[in-house]
Amino acid sequence: MAAQILDGISVGKAIKDEVAAEVAEYSRRGLQPGLAAVLVGNNPASQIYVSSKVKTCAELGIYSEKIELDESTTTDELSMLVHDLNQRIEIDGILIQLPLPRQIDSKRVLNLVDPAKDVDGLHPVNVGKLTIGERGLRPCTPAGIIEMLDRYQIQIDGSRAVVLGRSRLVGLPVSLLLLHRHATVTICHSHTPDLGAVAREADILIAAIGRMAMVDASFVKPGATVIDVGTNRVTNEADLERLFGDNPKRRAAFEKNGYTQVGDVNPREVSEVAGHLTPVPGGVGPLTIAMLMKNTLSAMKMRRGNG
Ligand code: NAP
Repeated sequence: MAAQILDGISVGKAIKDEVAAEVAEYSRRGLQPGLAAVLVGNNPASQIYVSSKVKTCAELGIYSEKIELDESTTTDELSMLVHDLNQRIEIDGILIQLPLPRQIDSKRVLNLVDPAKDVDGLHPVNVGKLTIGERGLRPCTPAGIIEMLDRYQIQIDGSRAVVLGRSRLVGLPVSLLLLHRHATVTICHSHTPDLGAVAREADILIAAIGRMAMVDASFVKPGATVIDVGTNRVTNEADLERLFGDNPKRRAAFEKNGYTQVGDVNPREVSEVAGHLTPVPGGVGPLTIAMLMKNTLSAMKMRRGNG
């Protein structure tokens, strides 16, 4: 039987609707969450991401500021901006769009962000809080994955979870979140021998490796929940055919854009074995931005909303 598809678009919308309702409630009390999105340089993908974050803020009633800096900005200049944003009472969240231009010391700048305003959840203070299970701001994509599992009532407590990937952005934090929810977690990476055999033990399999459709049916225990975090581009005919057969939507996208998106999971094969599967696109992706909005609201509540 084909896997149930976990719909990130509708889960993302539900989260955003809840945030909007809470934002409206706070605005009646004279409080509005605020997000500063900092974009340095002319990276076209970053420009699209920042615009869509700012647009989503407007839709939900969150105040936002898009701060655009020149490609030649120095570490000191960006540090001064972060310092100013840290001081501003009405700014609850500071988002520095990555990657930064090469001359900027990204680590130094990111570590200057006030942890209380670190809506990406990447500051070492928030990583520490996540590690020991203390309240704090959590990275958006991992937090979105947990929301997805919860909203589809997929049991985490007592499950065997296998996470493919150990990055600071996804693999490591999602492993910790699952651990704190009482899953038995195995973290895999590029040095793990016989990845498929380890993955096959999972009730919940998270694929966050950035390798096009590498997770095939042989990685998946029948009935497992598979969360596909990867975003890769299919750019040649042979892969299109192998991964999507004669799917007309995919072919149309491929012909129009020169590519179609695929995750780390082979959707054709894995949907025949898994119990639940997130699609790419439309799975984890929409949750990331929804959770950024939720984090901005949470940051406001923790800083100035008694909550
Ligand atoms: P990353 O920083 O490149 O980390 C990749 C991880 O996968 C590393 O831990 C690496 O192991 C491991 N890995 C790579 N190849 C492997 C292999 N053949 N076998 C086993 N492990 C392997 O990537 P990331 O930032 O975590 O992102 C992962 C994917 O998720 C990317 O496709 C990215 O675009 C996507 N992503 C999507 C969203 C979203 O919102 N949808 C958000 C973030 C990321 P080592 O540590 O040993 O090198």
